[in-house]
Amino acid sequence: MSYAFSYFIPTRVFFGRDCLNNNYATLSGLGEKALIISGRKSAKACGAYDEIVEVLNKLNIESVLYDQVEENPSFSSVQKVVEFGLENDADFVIGIGGGSPIDAAKAVAVLIANPFMKIEELFDGDFDIALPIVAIPTTSGTGSEVTEFSVLNSPENRKKSFKSDVIFPDISFIDPKYTLDLPTELTITTACDALSHSIEGSLSLKSTILTDLYAAKAIELIKENLPKLVNSSLVLSEEERYECRQALSLASMLGGMVISQTGTVLPHSFGYNMTTFYGIRHGVATIIFLPSVLRKAERTNPEKLRVFKESFKSVDKFDDFLEKLGVYKNIPKLSEKDLVDFSQFVAKSMHVSVTPGNITYEDIISIYKEVCG
Ligand code: NAP
Ligand code: ZN
Repeated sequence: MSYAFSYFIPTRVFFGRDCLNNNYATLSGLGEKALIISGRKSAKACGAYDEIVEVLNKLNIESVLYDQVEENPSFSSVQKVVEFGLENDADFVIGIGGGSPIDAAKAVAVLIANPFMKIEELFDGDFDIALPIVAIPTTSGTGSEVTEFSVLNSPENRKKSFKSDVIFPDISFIDPKYTLDLPTELTITTACDALSHSIEGSLSLKSTILTDLYAAKAIELIKENLPKLVNSSLVLSEEERYECRQALSLASMLGGMVISQTGTVLPHSFGYNMTTFYGIRHGVATIIFLPSVLRKAERTNPEKLRVFKESFKSVDKFDDFLEKLGVYKNIPKLSEKDLVDFSQFVAKSMHVSVTPGNITYEDIISIYKEVCG
């Protein structure tokens, strides 16, 4: 076995309670006017927005806020943020929220720095500058705070992601306290996203010794802490609740570090259609396909399940874990047309070539039937 690998993450990460207040001086030099990008409510409700404005004031950095980014951000909302940023002469961006505002901020950073570029051109990757990017996650799932990916919704209602080294955030402040009031349903779906990143990264044909170490830790943290938050939140002390949240935030970051090197594999591609056409949130939409993909990989490449089995022991036990979280509730039954249409989309995705098991179109359609038939 070879330990050879390459590893690249240029993001300066601060992790822990009050990490923004304790390290805000690192923001100086990024620019003179920040474009803060968030969703409609949570950035203010969780305290992150007030904190960032306070430290920007201390540094004499001006800011403007765009707080209308929706879940699964569309091309048109990204375009609106770009216009708002250009009108206000913003010279760096701060994404506060879940993956949606952070991914929008990454796209906006590229489009403002390259004002003649069209949004569709993001996916050609033909650019090499972006405004500086700061990420402040308020969910614990996507790991977007440490990845070079941004996922947007196209006018055809398809999820499209682009990647570039210039959209790795320059700085990420990961403070678990922002996630303390995340409702149970969002806690589950975002943790399922982080769990998928970690398990998919370990399954990926691009996994390395380093990503396996991160994945193993992230899987263990989620397996131990997510059920506590979901089932016994009311009996946990404030400190215990914080520790569970801290574990999920750390797992989310580690999962992001894993996919920043390996990318995701097939369950992500399966899940994209379930989100855009059936409104199922990203983490749940993805993880429901993971047991089938694991079973297929177990038959062809059993060694790729080593990291997964360190925590979950078997795919059946993992299935039980997911069942208890309620992720299989409300899965829609797909029509014949959707089955074919979705399977064709997945078959064309880049995820196929990095998933073990020489996946065919027939495999894809049979997995869709197994889960949504
Ligand atoms: P999200 O779509 O950003 O937000 C989901 C919901 O959570 C929103 O209603 C949001 O409210 C709310 N919310 C956020 N923080 C909260 C808090 N602290 N308390 C209460 N509610 C809160 O969710 P997400 O799962 O983090 O991101 C999903 C997106 O990320 C998808 O588009 C997915 O494709 C993408 N993604 C990207 C990567 C990457 O590497 N770039 C990886 C995986 C997934 P507000 O609208 O009020 O903020
Ligand atoms: Zn994901």
